[in-house]
Amino acid sequence: MHLTTLIRGGMVLDGTGREGEIADVGIAGDRIEAVAPRLAAEADAVVDATGLVVSPGFIDIHAHGDLYALMAPEAPARLHDGVTIEVLGNCGESPFPQSGEMLAERADSAERNGVAVDWATLDDYARRHDEVGTGINRASLVGHGNVRRAVMGEADRAPTPDELDAMRREVEAAMEAGAFGMSTGLIYAPCMYAEPAEIEALCEVVARHGGLYASHIRGEGDSLERSLEEFVGAGRRTGVRLEHSHAKVSGRGNWGKADRVIAWIEGVRAEGIDLACDRYPYIASSTSLSSLLPGWAREGGREPMLERIDTPADRERILGEVNGANTDWARWQAIQVANAACDAWRHAEGRSLSDLADEHGREPAELVLDLLAASDGRASMVAFSMCEENLEKWLRLPFVAIGSDSSSRSADGPTSVGKPHPRSFGTSARFLGRYVRERRVVELPDAVRRLTGLPASRLGLKLRGVLRPGAYADVTVFDPDTIADRATYQEPQQYSAGVQWVFVNGKAAIADGELTGVRNGCFIRRGAE
Ligand SMILES: [Zn+2]
Repeated sequence: MHLTTLIRGGMVLDGTGREGEIADVGIAGDRIEAVAPRLAAEADAVVDATGLVVSPGFIDIHAHGDLYALMAPEAPARLHDGVTIEVLGNCGESPFPQSGEMLAERADSAERNGVAVDWATLDDYARRHDEVGTGINRASLVGHGNVRRAVMGEADRAPTPDELDAMRREVEAAMEAGAFGMSTGLIYAPCMYAEPAEIEALCEVVARHGGLYASHIRGEGDSLERSLEEFVGAGRRTGVRLEHSHAKVSGRGNWGKADRVIAWIEGVRAEGIDLACDRYPYIASSTSLSSLLPGWAREGGREPMLERIDTPADRERILGEVNGANTDWARWQAIQVANAACDAWRHAEGRSLSDLADEHGREPAELVLDLLAASDGRASMVAFSMCEENLEKWLRLPFVAIGSDSSSRSADGPTSVGKPHPRSFGTSARFLGRYVRERRVVELPDAVRRLTGLPASRLGLKLRGVLRPGAYADVTVFDPDTIADRATYQEPQQYSAGVQWVFVNGKAAIADGELTGVRNGCFIRRGAE
């Protein structure tokens, strides 16, 4: 047996949740060759993993950012956080399909970001991804938002039978090409215009392929229960497997219902509905600032929204509704600007809307409109809308995987703008450091399973997310005593500590805690391995 790398003497946690044992892990080429207490084999390189945990590479089941994947191809924040696969295409937005106006609108990004957006299909994006050469592997869901836009633009109405057929064909094409399922983002246009019947018609296609339906459900606070009913209804009626995206109970007034909601989800699972969840280990969410606006104000996309902000009668109505939905000053204190997306408001990044409103002598709702107007509608926010107690309740559930809900970034260069939610940098390490080592919310072998075997099984990946002979050599070696997130809300661009080695398809992307610059990731297609 000749090995390319021999990882010697670490505590192997294989991703199944089984107790660990001290063993050697042998890598040959892009695969795991052997896992055994003592491997006697020649190896080109030997890694001493004494005192360290050797696990499958972490799988971030809830990621975003087709463009960021290409703008920061080394994916340093992910690698320092132990991640070897991220799943794009969540919350209704995916790299594909893109056509017509959608493509035209994004194509101008070459000037702003240095990357031309010219891909239309999964195949196009996968080719581009692999040509650029990236530090980690990626897979993708197909976004319902893309599918709907491709067929009916931004229309706020139900599809005609022909349009629905066309949408089903788009989903079919994406699944055939290797998407792992479909996602919706039912608070975002145009996904939000879809009735359950439309979504279920598309879920039938996904179910036929054994894919996953991941949803950012219609409401995560006041309307959480009926939004979950709608979501689970799709599983009941079509048999599609369900992934409840970034599960949470949002808004102080709703925190008290967490136990009831969790019991309800457990009941649904006990019925035999294939439902699981993902969650990021933080109590703040992050999304576009425009999502504070009522749905009608966002209809049609950024341009019509900006026109409404500029039209006095519409503007008054928007301000009235935004103020009506946020009567409590504490709400404004709990929202901070993430990326101002324009130079004039850089000073606002990392600061609360209440502070900024005071400073500028504006009502917070007016300030939101000022920021949206100045940023061409692109500004984003971080909102503290959850509580630690409930977060730990979610993390304890054995069917909750860890997903960052963020884009892959670097601490330098074009993706280092603004004050993004720290989950972009610290998700896995925060889970393993704060919630596993310090708070003991989950035992370590199960914690590793939530980062590896569980997401792999949700996606249907058989040769990833597990450490065994024959599997792809995506391997993360970390120090369980020191692993920790360092990214904060004020200083988010800081890599996690404690990840010592990361192998992606057999090659070291992190060696002795340092980025090697090796870009051995690939785009993974469903059914291709
Ligand atoms: Zn979402």
